Amino acid sequence: MSLNPSEWFTEVYDGDSAFAVRYTKKLYEARSEFQKIEIFETSKMGRVLILEGCFMVTEKDSFIYHEMLVHPAVSCTENPRKAVVIGGGDGGAVTELVKYNSIESIVLCEIDPQVIESCKKFFPEISAGLSDPRVSIVTRDGAAFIAEHENEFDIVLVDSTDPVGPGAALFATSFFESIRKSLTPAGVAVLQTESPLFMSDVFKDAIRDLRNVFGPDSVNPMLAVIPSYPGGLWSFGFCSETKNPHQSVSFDRLPKDLKYYSPEMHKASIAMPPFVKELLTS
Ligand code: SAM
Repeated sequence: MSLNPSEWFTEVYDGDSAFAVRYTKKLYEARSEFQKIEIFETSKMGRVLILEGCFMVTEKDSFIYHEMLVHPAVSCTENPRKAVVIGGGDGGAVTELVKYNSIESIVLCEIDPQVIESCKKFFPEISAGLSDPRVSIVTRDGAAFIAEHENEFDIVLVDSTDPVGPGAALFATSFFESIRKSLTPAGVAVLQTESPLFMSDVFKDAIRDLRNVFGPDSVNPMLAVIPSYPGGLWSFGFCSETKNPHQSVSFDRLPKDLKYYSPEMHKASIAMPPFVKELLTS
């Protein structure tokens, strides 16, 4: 069955695999200073955001990603007041963060203002948190931004694209070092670290480099299945010199409206299958 591009959007991954969804309407297309931005209305995944031909956000499954990026970090930090999201121009991570009244300020550092503007228009629910008065938006390179802040953030979340183009800077060891310095002593950083199945080298290198920066026992991977991302199985690197997702977690402040993250799913997410353990020790 060949997929007619006038009806289907297909993300071809590495030339040998693909993920496709039938769309009913193309809502937006632009080429910003940084990337091609497309937004489709689809039958199966709701509205989807595509950057440079890659699925970034879908109304169907991005809640899994946004909840896993945000809530383990907050659940393992006593009283977070200042947070920063690097990348994340769709606003989904910020929308999860603003659910916590204890958080006093949130910076979104997204390099591409056109992503923010198009997501505010076409993903009103996912981007809703961007209008919270505690949120300030900075449109510049996250690596340059974070390097200017020391001992300032209780939570740093990196919601980046793949390590290509402007996203490459967000997988550099120098960036990881800047994150470590930007955290308060009890702070936590969580970064999306790609697919252990389809991007095992990127995943393995990211966890290795993070461990070289934060310490061998200070980086814990977490896993979740996100169907619209290549390979489905996705990972997050939980980094902290003082907090550990195995022991430091408390669910007292967990918002009541979550659809994926829970105490049980927290436990499930930090259990590594043998093939991932093998990847990280080989
Ligand atoms: N959840 C998605 C994923 O895991 O692939 C990421 C979504 S979010 C839209 C990714 C954002 O990172 C994009 O809007 C992109 O413009 C932004 N970005 C890429 N490189 C960046 C950089 N160096 N500094 C700040 N933002 C960056």
